[in-house]
Amino acid sequence: MKWAGYAQVALSKLKLPGDIKARMGMPRVMDLARSIELLGDEPINALAVEKDGLVLIAGRDRTAALMRLGAKKAWCHLAVDVTDQDRLDLEIDENLHRRQDDRDKLIARRVAKVAGELSDEMSDNSPRQPGRPKSKQTKAREVVARELDTTPEAVRAAEKRAEAEEREETAEPVVVPPPVETWGVPVEHLTQEFASVRIAQEAMRVADRHLRQAQSALAALEDGGGVCAAFHMLVYGEVHQAASRLRSFIPTALCPYCKGLAHRRERCSGCSGAGYVSDDALLGVAEELRAKGPGAVVPDGRGGFVLVVAQRSKGAKPVAPKALKILDANDNPIVVADEDFPF
Ligand SMILES: [Zn+2]
Repeated sequence: MKWAGYAQVALSKLKLPGDIKARMGMPRVMDLARSIELLGDEPINALAVEKDGLVLIAGRDRTAALMRLGAKKAWCHLAVDVTDQDRLDLEIDENLHRRQDDRDKLIARRVAKVAGELSDEMSDNSPRQPGRPKSKQTKAREVVARELDTTPEAVRAAEKRAEAEEREETAEPVVVPPPVETWGVPVEHLTQEFASVRIAQEAMRVADRHLRQAQSALAALEDGGGVCAAFHMLVYGEVHQAASRLRSFIPTALCPYCKGLAHRRERCSGCSGAGYVSDDALLGVAEELRAKGPGAVVPDGRGGFVLVVAQRSKGAKPVAPKALKILDANDNPIVVADEDFPF
């Protein structure tokens, strides 16, 4: 593509994309129209137009904004020998000026592109400059900064932001450990619920802290003499009991009886349907129910247990639920109805 100078062209003569009318109503075009009006009724950058056929190749928003303002003609930068690649580059260039969300990324791409072009020129016909040679990247940054009417430092900052964003996009998602003991049972489906479990834990732990403070405040009654002893008798025990009641509810594990499984939870007497239990509640729980991972079980309702984690060997496909090996307490295989399968 080659540039062939500037010319004022009647907007009615330009070959415009079909969406130009729709564009005129877009908020960003309305903003642009206002800013063009403020800056003297002409966009800062001329429209890019293919000289042959007067096809608009960049500046659709600017054209729509000018049409909104009732302009009849506009300055156009005329281009000849336009290839599809040129159109693409112009699109990037145009977006660079328009879209704030991707701007950093586009600036980084523009710098890379300019740096690529520089390297060709430099290796071909640039004489060696005296002194410390500037890197292609530095030069490209200067070029792009001029294009955008900003400083090379601002361009570098945009590149850094784009890099950081890219890293964020490609980085592994941070895995937050479950807030409770899960017995090695798959809990992906509980992610949302765990958020509320964390809130409950935090609220109850804060309340517990306050009750402990209340207890220590009331302890002063014990040695206060006079009527203090009588009041100590009356209130200390109440607060102490409230504190221990509260602690007995702070969820620290998926209920060992239903393992928090939706269809078992409702009728589970181990957690009264909550799906979670506290440390206190775990004290009296049978050894089998505290097994983890492949050994995790739930009661089968007939004195035995049902495994809840699908068995699989390394590299093997997950075993279909029907292939689950289900054993009773004496390791004898048992047959259960489909509805008894937790998964
Ligand atoms: Zn339960």
